[in-house]
Amino acid sequence: MTKENVKVLILGSGPAGYTAAIYASRANLNPVLYSGPQMGGQLTITNDVENYPGYPKGINGQQMMVDFQEQAARFGADLRSGIATKVDFSNSNALKVIIDENHEIIAESVIIATGASAKWLGLPSEQKFLYSGVSACAVCDGFFYRSKDVVIVGAGDTACEEASYLAKLCNKVYMIVRRDEMRASKIMQKRVLNTPNIEILWNSETDEILGTDSVEGARIRNIQTGATRDLAISGFFVAIGHKPNTDIFAGILPMDENGYLKVLAGTSKTEIEGVFAAGDVQDHVYRQAVTAAGSGCMAALDAERYLAAKEMVEQE
Ligand code: NDP
Repeated sequence: MTKENVKVLILGSGPAGYTAAIYASRANLNPVLYSGPQMGGQLTITNDVENYPGYPKGINGQQMMVDFQEQAARFGADLRSGIATKVDFSNSNALKVIIDENHEIIAESVIIATGASAKWLGLPSEQKFLYSGVSACAVCDGFFYRSKDVVIVGAGDTACEEASYLAKLCNKVYMIVRRDEMRASKIMQKRVLNTPNIEILWNSETDEILGTDSVEGARIRNIQTGATRDLAISGFFVAIGHKPNTDIFAGILPMDENGYLKVLAGTSKTEIEGVFAAGDVQDHVYRQAVTAAGSGCMAALDAERYLAAKEMVEQE
């Protein structure tokens, strides 16, 4: 196992992680950032971001994260690929994080910005057909279903955005909504409702994804009537929300009932001194790129102040 000491360690490369890296590097804290499994985070699998201030015409999510990354690199942040596989925060003066099971980092402060990951329905057929017809990213995989019929499950902004995206590529999009209304914002709903090749199946759930080697259909059940309908489709997209990436912090940092990290209100401070949390990993309410970036800034400032106070105490 290789070993290294760092001042500020940042875990995660979404808007929160990169913003923390921008601020920490500009404060001469020499931050080291590990990307996690999905470099650039969730925005790299979204389409256009239209609500981030400063981009009046919108910006492609992937491009936005390249811009964030370049900005962090410009100020000297050490940006690396790698995944935190274990942590030991029992000594707040030597916060231990293992990267890829083979590199040990002792950090003076840690900023956790590991974000959240797509949720799945939990059907065995969903796992069976993952990468052969089942996907949680329409923007990544929609291209493979050009002129075909597809299903998308979910009724939030993501599902609406992805349904609209798929409708431009595919022949027909069936949107499976488990209630008689959608959670998505009105403007996103309107877009979906006004798209002729999107058919919404209300009060409906998926019983099974059908096929032999790849997806050939989906059995959809109306929850109210119990009636089932087999749809002939080639692609099955899941857009039902996310789960925070906090498994390695279980039993180490306090979390809410859904696994989101708890921070002291109005700050990024966790219960452990020197450990801060930013972005979706601690926010199940707002979950926006702009709020994640804002909280990444807060975490870097909190870390800077924590380190400065610690240094003063050590000098006395
Ligand atoms: P949400 O949590 O908002 O929505 C999840 C949707 O999936 C809900 O409609 C939910 O149904 C449904 N769902 C959950 N579990 C199941 C299940 N097992 N079976 C069927 N349906 C299920 O997640 P999103 O990813 O859509 O959005 C997350 C956040 O990101 C939101 O704050 C959203 O506003 C934001 N966002 C903004 C965008 C933009 O502005 N461009 C684009 C994308 C996301 P139910 O409603 O019944 O609970």
